[in-house]
Amino acid sequence: MVTTVFANYRRGYERESLMEKPESRMRQVTLGDLKFDNPFTTELSGDQDLSNTRRQVHDAYYSRVFPTPTAAPKTLVVSEEVRLLLGISSGLADSDEFAEVFSGNAVTADMDPHAMCYGGHQFGNWAGQLGDGRAINLGELQGIDSKNYMLQLKGAGPTPYSRSGDGRAVLRSSIREYLCSEAMHYLHVPTTRALSLCNTGDNVVRDMFYDGNLAEEIGAVVCRVAESFIRFGSFEIFSARENIDGLKALLDFTIKHHFPEISDTSPEKYVDFYREVISSTALLMAHWQRVGFVHGVMNTDNMSIHGLTIDYGPYGWVDDFDPDWTPNTTDRHQRRYRFRNQPAVGHWNLAQLANAIYPVVGSVEPLQEALDEYEEIFSRSWSEMIAAKLGLVEYSSSSSQRVITDLFSILETGEIDMTIFFRSLSSITVGSDISIDEISALLKSSYYEPVSKSESHWETLRDWIENYRDVLRGQEIPDDRRKAQMDQVNPKYVLRNYLAQLAIDSAEQGDLSMLYDLQTMLKTPYDDQPQFDKWAVKRPDWAKDRAGCSMLSCSS
Ligand code: AMP
Ligand code: MG
Repeated sequence: MVTTVFANYRRGYERESLMEKPESRMRQVTLGDLKFDNPFTTELSGDQDLSNTRRQVHDAYYSRVFPTPTAAPKTLVVSEEVRLLLGISSGLADSDEFAEVFSGNAVTADMDPHAMCYGGHQFGNWAGQLGDGRAINLGELQGIDSKNYMLQLKGAGPTPYSRSGDGRAVLRSSIREYLCSEAMHYLHVPTTRALSLCNTGDNVVRDMFYDGNLAEEIGAVVCRVAESFIRFGSFEIFSARENIDGLKALLDFTIKHHFPEISDTSPEKYVDFYREVISSTALLMAHWQRVGFVHGVMNTDNMSIHGLTIDYGPYGWVDDFDPDWTPNTTDRHQRRYRFRNQPAVGHWNLAQLANAIYPVVGSVEPLQEALDEYEEIFSRSWSEMIAAKLGLVEYSSSSSQRVITDLFSILETGEIDMTIFFRSLSSITVGSDISIDEISALLKSSYYEPVSKSESHWETLRDWIENYRDVLRGQEIPDDRRKAQMDQVNPKYVLRNYLAQLAIDSAEQGDLSMLYDLQTMLKTPYDDQPQFDKWAVKRPDWAKDRAGCSMLSCSS
């Protein structure tokens, strides 16, 4: 069985290498009146070698490469909001042309498909050139908000940066990326968006557990959307190769197109740019901690210069509150990217960005000064967010500080479902209509192993509730108003790993209903949606150790 599959795998490669010029076979279609623009490829130099062979690409920001045509493209789902943002009519989204283009089977005349060249630090080590090994940028569309958005196909076939990969993505990881990136947007966490998810009709071979067992999986392509897909690693590769003019040109391009508020003539412009990246990254880290999201692969090639969550791989949601948890099996020993480390890793990654742009800035001090502000920006953002989660009007008084600190020691020792616990807090009133026993019972229902907790744990929880209510009483905010505010920052519905996995299991059998339902549920994660209450519960026991539900590999 393994041999047969492996033979198919090999055949896939041979078929590609026979196609001398896949670009000449690329079908052209029109997509209504959509107009694509390509400042990145027009203003920055590309790879002179137009062949689609895996190699080191020097002195170029990208390589022109067409998607590899697929067998039977089919649009599975489109994000209505992103479609409207990009001015794409529903008729067009339903058309065959849409499925053809967004699965990588055809292009429009004004697209300039290309894969970006970037490097990166992976798990703390410089990894050299990485680049878009399976992502292909098509071009930019102007959104109805007048901003420009790059459209990128993930899983659209090999590029010069594919190294040993096949350039493809499987349905399971594409569903995870599609659903989660949209969910993050509605949680108000900065993120790349997803326009569509298409089935390619081609099978893709993966060793899901890296244990030598190859299996055929369904191939898929997600069309991702963001201001740009420029990463920290985009600058690092030029710096590592000591191409300082190239580095400067990329900085100038980035500032001109993506940071227009920075004056082009300012002598400080590169440091100003760095400061912006520091602020948006610090804010992003605070948001991840707020909602209990663990990215899983915070390598510098996965760090957006816009402070967006990018590259949804083996990510996960904290179920029981374990700050040392990471969903990524590849990182299970070191746990470099565990939940509690994310803010510190953000800092480490920003230091790599400083090192990268230093040759253009020419002096260490302003970069160091900027980096030193990261901790304060993160702490302020996080403190504001945790205060809001608790319905506290401020976080700096000693009474607020005590409530926050004591809460985290309870969470860490309690094996408590983070999402359910925080959501329950808004039901605590300060009037006498709810007793401390009732509150304890309410919070107890968010525990995974309540029977294993000692009496002293419950006493600590009761003391905390008393303290917390004292602080709330002092604020004199009506209970219902505080509840409404708290419910706006403590989501009721998140994409728990097991939910994504159930949607994947059904989709692999051809049933997309759960995918659609989850998409609907995740659009208003802060509102009560009784029809979805079955999915606002603790992770079921069966999901604790099931692949895809607790731990994931990078195989995608
Ligand atoms: P990631 O960990 O997904 O950010 O990927 C790291 C690098 O590996 C990037 O350069 C990706 O484009 C590349 N890569 C990941 N999966 C594949 C694949 N199936 N084919 C080609 N390149 C890949
Ligand atoms: Mg990546």
